Amino acid sequence: MNIILLAPPAAGKGTQASLLTKKYGFKHISTGELLRKSLEANDAVSLEIKETMQAGKLVSDAIILQLIEKEFLVAEQGIILDGFPRNKTQALKYAELLTSLGQEIDYVFYLAVPKEVAMERIFGRRTCPSCGKIYNSRALENKEKCMDCNTALVKREDDTEETFDLRYETYIKETSPLIAFYQEQGLLYEIDASLSTEEVFASIEKVLSKESE
Ligand code: ADP
Repeated sequence: MNIILLAPPAAGKGTQASLLTKKYGFKHISTGELLRKSLEANDAVSLEIKETMQAGKLVSDAIILQLIEKEFLVAEQGIILDGFPRNKTQALKYAELLTSLGQEIDYVFYLAVPKEVAMERIFGRRTCPSCGKIYNSRALENKEKCMDCNTALVKREDDTEETFDLRYETYIKETSPLIAFYQEQGLLYEIDASLSTEEVFASIEKVLSKESE
């Protein structure tokens, strides 16, 4: 099973991917998480990645594709892609990779949310730097530590108003054309992501259960 979550920044891709992983045992591949982890190397490449992310731009396709291929080699179960593909080149390369493995994309969930709603969400968002768990302002309730691993929660460095605007611009220019791209292939399912986490998850599950009937 190959699922892609396509959405503007801070629409809740990571949260939905975690819920799906928990329920169905899929492997969650978040390119944003992989990149944030790679920053720990603190070398010249990671410095460049950090600057690119801070500027709300896309990290080079070569770096991203290398990350994805590495993850795929160890993936045995279904895969949920969160944050990839993010432009046409990545989408085409991904199609090539799947063909070479004799696989195909099953669902592309487009989590549609107005910019203002997404923006409001990121200002209250905190994440666990150790296990990646995401807390929205409602789930946070004055918690400072991760419920799962007790690590102190942090605010993502790119969750500022300025970087959010830049990330959103990049999304409109580079990523949003993929909506039509996957729609034309009959793979796109639009989900109203302005609803609550539980409601969004229920809409995704409804599609998954209908199709497997
Ligand atoms: P969000 O979707 O909320 O912006 P992500 O964690 O998915 O958060 O991505 C954070 C940043 O990581 C992006 O703004 C971009 O700089 C970089 N990034 C993540 N995925 C990709 C990708 N597939 N291609 C290029 N850059 C990426």
